Amino acid sequence: MPVDATLPYDDANVFARILRGEIPATIVHEDEYAVAFRDIAPQAPVHILVIPRGAYVSWDDFSARASDAEIAGFVRAVGTVARAAGLVEPGYRLLANVGAAGGQEVPHLHVHLFGGAPLGPMLAQGAARARAR
Ligand code: AMP
Repeated sequence: MPVDATLPYDDANVFARILRGEIPATIVHEDEYAVAFRDIAPQAPVHILVIPRGAYVSWDDFSARASDAEIAGFVRAVGTVARAAGLVEPGYRLLANVGAAGGQEVPHLHVHLFGGAPLGPMLAQGAARARAR
């Protein structure tokens, strides 16, 4: 079920629990600002989630409230993870879903990093394109 990304942060969400070490994850990168781990239901040969350590619901929340250091640290971590995964030369895709229309299901900001194969059209074909504006 998509979340309402305007709600306050809920520290019971699954990524908060991964950050606290309460549930396992296949972690591929950790630093002061970010943690990256493999998506539990990968949608590409490489599908990694990068999350900030701070309690931010979405890209909207993060871009509005995070410090410059947190934003820089998080953005750099996404690049570091992609380089470490060998994705720069073949290419890759980043995606951050926000709220209901974006299909966001976990209310802790995460950037999806997809790679390892040609990724096809940017969006699923159909309704979204029909209503493009
Ligand atoms: P989104 O729809 O953008 O909120 O994406 C949430 C993503 O989190 C989905 O791709 C899920 O497969 C992934 N996910 C949910 N629970 C876990 C988990 N415990 N470990 C790793 N990935 C997860």
